[in-house]
Amino acid sequence: MCGIVGYVGRSEAAPILLDGLKRLEYRGYDSAGVAIVNGEGVQTRKCAGRIAALSKLMAQKPPSGSFGISHTRWATHGKVNDTNAHPHFDQSGKLALVHNGVIENYGALKAQLVEQGHTFETETDTEVLAHLIGSIYDKIDNNDSKGRLVNATREALKQVIGTYGIALLHADVPDFIVGARRGSPLVLGVGRDENFLASDVSAIVAHTRDAVYLNDFDLVAVERDKFEISSIDGETGEHQINKVEFTSEDISKGDYAHYMLKEIFEQPDSVRDAMRGRLNTEECTAKLGGLNMTAAELRDVGRVVLTGCGTALHAGGVGEYLIEQLASVPTEVEFASEFRHRNTPMTRDTLVFAISQSGETADTLGALRESRRKGYRTLGICNNVASTIARESDGGVYMHAGPEIGVAATKSFTSQVVILTLIGLLLGRMRNLSTAEGSRLIEALEALPDQIEDTLKLSDHIKSIANKYVDVSGMLFFGRQFNYPIALEGALKMKEITYLYAEGHPSAELKHGIIALVRPDLPSIFVAPDDGVFSKNLNNIEQVKARKGPIIAVTTQSGAKQLKGIANDVIVVPDAPDTLMPILTVIPLQLLAYHLAVGLGRDVDKPRNLAKSVTVE
Ligand code: GLU
Repeated sequence: MCGIVGYVGRSEAAPILLDGLKRLEYRGYDSAGVAIVNGEGVQTRKCAGRIAALSKLMAQKPPSGSFGISHTRWATHGKVNDTNAHPHFDQSGKLALVHNGVIENYGALKAQLVEQGHTFETETDTEVLAHLIGSIYDKIDNNDSKGRLVNATREALKQVIGTYGIALLHADVPDFIVGARRGSPLVLGVGRDENFLASDVSAIVAHTRDAVYLNDFDLVAVERDKFEISSIDGETGEHQINKVEFTSEDISKGDYAHYMLKEIFEQPDSVRDAMRGRLNTEECTAKLGGLNMTAAELRDVGRVVLTGCGTALHAGGVGEYLIEQLASVPTEVEFASEFRHRNTPMTRDTLVFAISQSGETADTLGALRESRRKGYRTLGICNNVASTIARESDGGVYMHAGPEIGVAATKSFTSQVVILTLIGLLLGRMRNLSTAEGSRLIEALEALPDQIEDTLKLSDHIKSIANKYVDVSGMLFFGRQFNYPIALEGALKMKEITYLYAEGHPSAELKHGIIALVRPDLPSIFVAPDDGVFSKNLNNIEQVKARKGPIIAVTTQSGAKQLKGIANDVIVVPDAPDTLMPILTVIPLQLLAYHLAVGLGRDVDKPRNLAKSVTVE
């Protein structure tokens, strides 16, 4: 959440910062701003609204200078308005700061500063940090202004409780930016005679593919031709420069109207990439070297905990069914935000997986840290290489799905489910899953990309269904077994981008209360392939029909025959084993939400109130 871009070099900073912010807009988009310095001091432009609004403002009076910082906000403290947009300033007006995160003790710090005569202009927690650093800077008696700024930042951050990724500059300290992080991501881009700071490499990949991923408690002093990383306590450590895997083309929309649609259509490839090199057809198992576990350690896993938030949690929901079915290992799915604060009983042989596309999700990171603190082996399932979760876990599996920009997660979900299937296969083959069963599953996995391709051909059909339902007041989603988490995920997609009321439930729960909601303007979507529980789903479908609730069914060919004359609309996906069905059934639900959102005129890639990569708690 929230995007930061900083630049020190020889080019004009304004277009570089603006372009970087556009790349980061998926992280937050309620307001934006820049602070750029030249000989005349700090020039600030900021306003509520999208980056486009900032761009317009900057075009009216272009700020010039070759170093600056910028921000796209996702408000946590203080209304969304021009004043609360970042950058924020210290009392002298010379120090500008942008911030991602929450300063939890800002109230106490503010009270102290007010007592010292400081006056505040905004309602944000961030402004307090700018004042604190500025007040320490002003008190330091030293001619080395760079050292002063670094030390003032260091001293201020020691007083801060909360999370931050920050970038700051001072009008009196030319060509110099300071960055620091704790709990919010920050990356240093290393260029030639220019350096960058950003929340995410996508902001700077057009300029350099050399990146240093900062760790928590790192502080970096950035100049045009050098940088220095130390800890907030002043210690220096090793930091390697990594090559970014993707290019700026990978993060363009191409011919698609929206990133979300592009990413839905990328799923044949992203699913293939999640399996690439990981299927061992000889031994009918999966190869997951990144887990860093020996055969004996894998054999001894007695319990699995899958933790994540939102879509990643729903992938975990499918994972619970998968791992228990394939490997008979008791598996729990836990909201990361709950897991980290509650006393989940853990056994010595529990293996924890933290699932997060960005690898930066604050709650999931908190869960990972808590579980590692207690001494449990904790692995990551992430998409962003070198993300904080990937770096702090004991090992894990990368999704290799490519950048996901659409705020509503799609391809990361199917990649996560594929990886959980591979984990189930691996653990299963260490236990009772036979070579024949393993081999059949591998064959079915290999068939998936083509089957996804076939499912995507249903897009126009799904669009015509969506167009029938633009006036509904909400939607109910139902599924059983492996497809129950798909009902949850379908409802989440619908909420996120159409803003319609939508809930997912196990089909059988219908009669325990939800049926009271059934009415003609509230369609029910049943995820009901012709599997072992199809006839049970059919009962529930009849119960809705009897009460005049419209029914959309996602099913397989043989299921469609039985639903003729019962369901109002039928979407037929290819047949697959029960364990793999969720990867196929989720796609029509992604498309249904997408087409309905477009029909309703929603901003699909930047839905109301949301942002991707939720780095605040
Ligand atoms: N807490 C700060 C604010 O509300 C930063 C939020 C963000 O991460 O964008 O302005």
